[in-house]
Amino acid sequence: MVRVFTTLATLALLLGFLSTPANASHLSIYIYSPYTNSNWYFSQGNHNGRMNNEARDVAWPSTPSNITFNATSGATGVVTAVANNCNSTQTWDKYVTLSLYYGGDFYGQVSYVHITSPTVSVNDTISAGTSLGSPQTQSSDCWTAVHSHMERSSNGTWVSDYICGQGCATENQFPYSSAVVRMLHSNIQRPVGR
Ligand SMILES: [Zn+2]
Repeated sequence: MVRVFTTLATLALLLGFLSTPANASHLSIYIYSPYTNSNWYFSQGNHNGRMNNEARDVAWPSTPSNITFNATSGATGVVTAVANNCNSTQTWDKYVTLSLYYGGDFYGQVSYVHITSPTVSVNDTISAGTSLGSPQTQSSDCWTAVHSHMERSSNGTWVSDYICGQGCATENQFPYSSAVVRMLHSNIQRPVGR
C-alpha cells in the first residue's frame, strides 16, 4: 500500500512538472475582433472552400474603417505574407498572415482575409492595435458580402465558436472586445526560417 501511494505521489509530481508551462503567465494569447469599436459576429462556421476549412467568417453590423490586429497587450505580430487571396487580377482581395509572439515565444499564426490596400509589409513587426488595411467592399470570386475571415494555425482554438447561418447576425453579436481566437503556447515549433 505504501508502495502504491509512493508511486501515485511520484506520478502526481511528474504530471505537475510536465503540466507546468515554460511561460506560466502567458500560456495563451487572445486575438480579438479585427473591427475596432464595432460589434461582430461569426457569420458562418467552417469556411467552406477557400484557403482553409478551419477558417471563420467574421462580419459586423456597420463597415469599419480598418481591419486591426487586436490582441492581448504585449503580443507582437511578424508579417509573414501579404498576397492576393483569389487570383492575380482581383488585387482588392488580399490576405495578411501574422506570426504571433509574446515574450520571444512563438504562439502560432493567424491570417486576416479580404483586406484591400494592406498597410503592412512582409517582415514588419507590429504591436497589438496596428491597422492592417481597409476592409474589402468590392466583390471577388471568393467573397459574397462584406466580411473578413480569420484563419489560424493548428496552435489556436476558436473561443466564441458556434455554427450560425448568414441570417442569425443581429441576435448573436459579440462586443468587439471579446476574443475570436485563442493561440496556445505549448509544443509549438518555430516556423521554418525563424
Ligand atoms: Zn471569406
